[in-house]
Amino acid sequence: MTYRAPLADIASALKHAATLPAAIERGLFGELDLEDIDAIVAEAGRFAGEVIAPLNRIGDTYGTRFNDGSVTTAPGWKEAYRAWRLAGWNAVTAPPEWGGQGLPQILNAACTEMWHAASVAFANGPMLTMAAIDALNAHGSEALKRAYLNKLVSGEWMGTMQLTEPQAGSDVGALRTRAERAGDGTYRITGQKIFITFGEHDFTENIIHFVLARLPDAPSGTRGISFFLVPKFLLQSDGSLGARNDVRAHSVEHKLGIHGSPTCTMVFGDAGGAIGFLIGEEHAGMSCMFTMMNRARLAVGLQGVGIAECATQKAVAYARERRQGRAAELDPSQSAAIIAHPDVRRMLLTMRTLTQAARAICYATALAIDRGERGSDDKVRRQAQAQASLLTPVAKAFSTDVANEVTSLGIQVHGGMGYIEETGAAQLFRDARIAAIYEGTNGIQAVDLVTRKLPLAKGSFVNAHLNELRSVVRALEADNDPSLGWTAVRLGDAVESLARATSWLLAHLDNEPEAALAGATPYLRLFGLATGGCLLAKQALSVKRLGEDAAAALVTARFFAGHVAVSAGGLERIVVEGAAGVIGTDAALTMA
Ligand SMILES: Cc1cc2nc3c(=O)[nH]c(=O)nc-3n(C[C@H](O)[C@H](O)[C@H](O)COP(=O)(O)OP(=O)(O)OC[C@H]3O[C@@H](n4cnc5c(N)ncnc54)[C@H](O)[C@@H]3O)c2cc1C
Repeated sequence: MTYRAPLADIASALKHAATLPAAIERGLFGELDLEDIDAIVAEAGRFAGEVIAPLNRIGDTYGTRFNDGSVTTAPGWKEAYRAWRLAGWNAVTAPPEWGGQGLPQILNAACTEMWHAASVAFANGPMLTMAAIDALNAHGSEALKRAYLNKLVSGEWMGTMQLTEPQAGSDVGALRTRAERAGDGTYRITGQKIFITFGEHDFTENIIHFVLARLPDAPSGTRGISFFLVPKFLLQSDGSLGARNDVRAHSVEHKLGIHGSPTCTMVFGDAGGAIGFLIGEEHAGMSCMFTMMNRARLAVGLQGVGIAECATQKAVAYARERRQGRAAELDPSQSAAIIAHPDVRRMLLTMRTLTQAARAICYATALAIDRGERGSDDKVRRQAQAQASLLTPVAKAFSTDVANEVTSLGIQVHGGMGYIEETGAAQLFRDARIAAIYEGTNGIQAVDLVTRKLPLAKGSFVNAHLNELRSVVRALEADNDPSLGWTAVRLGDAVESLARATSWLLAHLDNEPEAALAGATPYLRLFGLATGGCLLAKQALSVKRLGEDAAAALVTARFFAGHVAVSAGGLERIVVEGAAGVIGTDAALTMA
């Protein structure tokens, strides 16, 4: 089977976990109502399932072909991209003054999940174009916006994000690409970038590169970086395509997964320097790039949700078909479908509930971004922006870790067939791997969460988040539904583990930063488990309250609390006690 959009699950997460109806009632989205949102999501789901998903396998086997600086994508891909952009999917959240639809981020989050579920390799180029639109709209001059935004919004041109260089990966401040003032307001860019997603391709005539570079008089580190727009083709005065700029793809990488996505080495300045246009102020490029990266980080989290969903669908379908062994409660004379075996059910439920928790976190993050952009007053907007910035590293790292775990379990459910390429389970496993690495590795997300996000406003935003989680636990206790078993107790424990680990980190961050950093990744996991568990419980309670069929939501919340979030106590211990096991451990890491 290929992917089928899980419209009911998506609708339930939007409505009950992310509480979209309350936002609509408060007038956050003007005239837009839930029915409109359901209809748009359903159409996106149809497109993802019918047009994109069938192309995922050919992208994996064909890869991308590089010839003399040009890249050819897999058969059918460029036609699918054209259909996708003509249907308006590139423009969902883009500003109406530049041809966009100005729709909510949370709606686009659901669409983004589905594009990536259908094919990550296909969707990660457009994802970066959307992020580029945000950065140009927020920081670009009017002239640059007039020249480029309409075509980026329509998807007629695509964008790239160019940070990475051989010596500058996580350490962006080490980049060496140079920018020289040309004296006419433009700049000349020289240098090399590596690993650039959709750096060259045949989807669009022009490609607009968003490039970090350093001016000769720039201070060192990230404070000396500027942000440039560097088009593949320069524009003539009437906006039509002119001369080829001095930037080219040198090669494409051969890699573990996402074979259909061209990952390029880019060379700037063979003939003296590519013409670049400054976005924002000189030396202040990192804040512009952060606009782009933050949007892309949530999108990569949704990529994780999409791949995990697809892997779960495949595994459930296979487990219903594959017959092995006998099951105690079924006819002993016949072999049972493996879905009857408790251990297989455990794997499937782990896959399903981790996916749903990650989805809930990503949608909640998207709604916080919407409130940050559209909230009724300054205070509401500022608080929502802080919430979004707290949740973004969790949405990115937790969801992509989930994708790796779930796709691995997906192979396990298939047994030996999972290891064989024809089932597609192996491709999902390979495709998922990158999501924990790009857009800032998950280790860097954890460092960001602990060192930058927790201390915001002296910890008051993280404490507000903890109080929200506690209110879910109280609601569970009050509801006291026997079908939820120990859910309230398990989640209560998880939330208090998170609270203690948070206090410990805030108390030690300044004086023992190494000790705090040693626990950053387990802390992010703990944050994801407590938050995801509470969102699933909130979803189940809300479904019940509205008299809808709550059976699946209750099982999901209970399983997640009892089998997954229950590891919170161990993670807390690692955060508060584990540093000594990490720092000063050279002896164990010395090779014999
Ligand atoms: C397929 C693919 C597509 C990509 N697309 C793009 C793109 O479009 N644009 C772009 O600019 N880049 C892109 N990248 C690059 C990607 O963002 C980087 O690979 C990533 O940021 C990690 O950098 P690195 O590979 O140099 O690893 P390193 O920075 O060398 O990291 C290696 C390990 O050390 C850890 N580490 C490093 N520094 C720290 C620290 N300070 N604290 C804790 N841990 C640390 C990391 O978490 C990681 O586990 C892509 C990469 C790939 C493979």
